[in-house]
Amino acid sequence: MYDVVIIGSGPAGLSAAVYARRAKLKTLVIEKAGYSGGQIVNTSDVDNYLGLQGIDGFEMAMKFRSHAEHFEAEFLDAEVLNIKDNQDDGFIIILKGENEIITKSIIVATGAGYSKLGIVGEAEYTGKGVSYCATCDGAFYREKIAAVVGGGDVALEDALYLANMASKVYLIHRRDELRGAKSLQDKVFATENIEFIPNTIVEKINGADGIVSSITIKNIKSAEVKNVDINGIFVAIGMKPESSFVKGLVDMDSSGYIVAGEDGATSRNGIFVAGDVRTKKLRQVITAVSDGANAVASVEKYLRDLK
Ligand code: NAP
Repeated sequence: MYDVVIIGSGPAGLSAAVYARRAKLKTLVIEKAGYSGGQIVNTSDVDNYLGLQGIDGFEMAMKFRSHAEHFEAEFLDAEVLNIKDNQDDGFIIILKGENEIITKSIIVATGAGYSKLGIVGEAEYTGKGVSYCATCDGAFYREKIAAVVGGGDVALEDALYLANMASKVYLIHRRDELRGAKSLQDKVFATENIEFIPNTIVEKINGADGIVSSITIKNIKSAEVKNVDINGIFVAIGMKPESSFVKGLVDMDSSGYIVAGEDGATSRNGIFVAGDVRTKKLRQVITAVSDGANAVASVEKYLRDLK
């Protein structure tokens, strides 16, 4: 039986692993992606993590993972399907493939995944011109035409990143005002090959020969609908928490974020939460890492009280 099983190996999960191992807890980290780092692996420059200014997100993920390995955290590549009470004490974690793991406590650190537009052509052309990660797929659009959907920091960063390679980038946003940081907005508006298309939604993604060839867009003020030829579309409309496997087990808000304060304690004794999957105001690497540490402090107290 493990003292703690950490589900997810992004910054929150890896930070929890370091703290748990330093507290001499028998610790397992379960990761379904097959790699660690979570969302940061898709970030080219992390500019706001104290002491590591400008670090590449992938390199940061590798550093975090090797830190957890240094303290001999155990890792398992697997997908968690469900969590049940163990008869005597603790929990049974049910994995895809019917394997089970028994643990005294759990830290959910599964982060969040990409929100989808939910329009015709999106699922069909994912990986064939529809992408959710500009830093992963941007290089395919060298001297081509790309569209970015969204108005937040990620959409602006994606548009700027793509503008370095693509011949033209359309930035399509449903309102006339961008949500992203003013400093990014200034850069976007100063970049010649980025065209901002406000008050507009993408209605349909069209393809030819199995790959994206155009999008159908609608101006929601004028109701004008038109087709725009593109080679790729990057959807950057935010994230959704990865919490469906604990639905009904712990309290969540209406968006599916697990309700917990800074100590990571959920509505269920023995289950803790850290990082972007928790209800909180600021979802950043630095807050995720701090959540991991706090959750382990709560786990230690929980395990002490069990004795
Ligand atoms: P976000 O800030 O929530 O922005 C999502 C954008 O997508 C919004 O502009 C929203 O429009 C739009 N949107 C949402 N649903 C849509 C739909 N169905 N159709 C069309 N548009 C839709 O998300 P994010 O850009 O992914 O950023 C997530 C968090 O990470 C933010 O807190 C952000 O500040 C942070 N972040 C920080 C940095 C940094 O500090 N360097 C970098 C990246 C991200 P509305 O504006 O109309 O709601």
